[in-house]
Amino acid sequence: MLVNQLKVGTMENFCYILSCPDTRKAAVIDPGADEHLILAELDRHVLELEYILLTHFHYDHTCKASHLRQATGALVAMHEADIPYFREQVDVVLKDGDIIHAGEQIRLQVMHTPGHTPGGVCYYGHGRLFTGDTLFVRDSGRTDFAYSHRPTLGASLRRVMQLPEDTVVMPGHDYGPAPASTLLEEKRHNINAKEYGFYKP
Ligand SMILES: [Zn+2]
Ligand SMILES: [Zn+2]
Repeated sequence: MLVNQLKVGTMENFCYILSCPDTRKAAVIDPGADEHLILAELDRHVLELEYILLTHFHYDHTCKASHLRQATGALVAMHEADIPYFREQVDVVLKDGDIIHAGEQIRLQVMHTPGHTPGGVCYYGHGRLFTGDTLFVRDSGRTDFAYSHRPTLGASLRRVMQLPEDTVVMPGHDYGPAPASTLLEEKRHNINAKEYGFYKP
């Protein structure tokens, strides 16, 4: 599976294009802006988009999902607990533990990681964890929004920290000193590690 990390919009958002080089099938995670850039990348690599995977309902992650859906026929996927807050079409209703397949090489497990939003998810596969606004490089998602809950986010973070420590963290925003990290680095250096109980010296 190939991963293309794109910076989109004006809020340091990361959108990801995942592709299978054998079949040219692709999935996009969080198309929050710059749909023309995303479509140009799909065209440039001759990719057929199968899934639009949303980490949560916030506008900066979902804004161009319907546009891409119309342009490509791909299916929009979101966790069931965020759907009440999302006004657009969802084709695939996600639950914890679901597996997304595209092409021969794309295989992602859905991990329900509520706290930033009720239906926030991370997508895990191929040694990578796409974390949306659950976990950033050196920080974690805001919990001062209407549907956020800080202790719940802490529980979600402790859960993802049980994955292998060399798992690569691919966040939803470029807020840290690097565009990606590992779970071990976050256990050691994340600003919220002690508060949330996943600190490792
Ligand atoms: Zn958010
Ligand atoms: Zn965000």
